[in-house]
Amino acid sequence: MTDDSAHISIHDFQQLIRQMYVEKDVARGVDGTFMWLMEEIGELAAALREGTRDEQSAEFADVLAWLTTIANVVGVDLADAVRQKYGSGCPGCGQFVCTCDDAGKP
Ligand SMILES: [Zn+2]
Repeated sequence: MTDDSAHISIHDFQQLIRQMYVEKDVARGVDGTFMWLMEEIGELAAALREGTRDEQSAEFADVLAWLTTIANVVGVDLADAVRQKYGSGCPGCGQFVCTCDDAGKP
């Protein structure tokens, strides 16, 4: 972690989550951890529907934390994953402003 907490990189965040939780996360395993992620996504949905901006912000952070936890359990480097998939633009059309057909999933 750097002192510039306004700009936490994906790599730094994954390291932070690993440092705080990896032993518990590995003991719980992928299945149990995935259930927590789904619960947090439900809480995000509720916050988007009727929460305050602060509540929405907190739920986004929770979803990202649980997603990151699962990556730690299975050994995926999220920064590498994002760079490989999205670092050169849209995976569908290769552009930095997507030009894929709106009917398709990019
Ligand atoms: Zn595209």
